[in-house]
Amino acid sequence: MQHGQWTFSLFSDGVIALDGGASFGIVPKPLWEKQVAADDRNRVPVALRCLLAEGHGRRVLIDTGIGDRWDARQRDIYGMQRRAGQLLTELEAAGVPRPSITDVVLTHLHFDHVGGACLDLANGMSPAFDTARWWVQRQQWEWAQNPSERDRVSFRSEDFEALADTGRLELIDGPAEIIPGLRLHPVHGHTPGMQIPEFFTGQGVVVFLTDLIPTTAHLHLPWIAGFDLNPLLSLSEKRQLLSRAVEDDYILVFQHDPRHEACRVEFQDGRFRARIAGTLDEVAGTAGAGA
Ligand SMILES: [Zn+2]
Repeated sequence: MQHGQWTFSLFSDGVIALDGGASFGIVPKPLWEKQVAADDRNRVPVALRCLLAEGHGRRVLIDTGIGDRWDARQRDIYGMQRRAGQLLTELEAAGVPRPSITDVVLTHLHFDHVGGACLDLANGMSPAFDTARWWVQRQQWEWAQNPSERDRVSFRSEDFEALADTGRLELIDGPAEIIPGLRLHPVHGHTPGMQIPEFFTGQGVVVFLTDLIPTTAHLHLPWIAGFDLNPLLSLSEKRQLLSRAVEDDYILVFQHDPRHEACRVEFQDGRFRARIAGTLDEVAGTAGAGA
């Protein structure tokens, strides 16, 4: 999808299943199951999407999927449906070999975002994109070394510790424009120092929502996953981003929504909701009311 000075494409590292209750926080099941059906273990499907953005001579990958280093028991717990090396295979098939990636933005270091960052080679863990620069908020990097008991299960240090030895790990302090038009916007309610990539393309704004708003259902402000460490902060961060998104008719890209890749939003009857949702191409092809 061409948009101003950038081109965007989505790649999948498969689908997992997470507990429906945890995915929707305090929202009662009779409400959330109208949006998404649970399986016989009360789990809901969670897409693992990564965004490839090309512009200004750079090829930027946002997040790296869940990766291959999972045993049979873990694959069962997380209901993993993916092929070995799926993300890398999809990139290769699209004419995007690993050495052509110039930059990898890690929104945060939870295992379903950074699991594919490193490969388990004979001589130890090694970055999958071995010529890329890696962009992480310093606050998230430090939190991931020493998480709380509550979120420790979400981090596996072997996913990312090898990045520290590359000389290409860029730890960022706060908001940053790392390439012209690509701004990283830190938010802290889900986990301290998560960063939201926002592309100001010259034709509009494209935002990769990561875990701030994982699916269309989570556009409604009080629908916040139980995983978020500081839900009241997530609430205000969602309100702030969605207000901008309505005002300037942003294209919002979902990492985890199995049905919709993207949407544009409106504020109607006291709540935020999708004005249009669908594939990234479909959503990009619609001009907004104010555009
Ligand atoms: Zn997360």
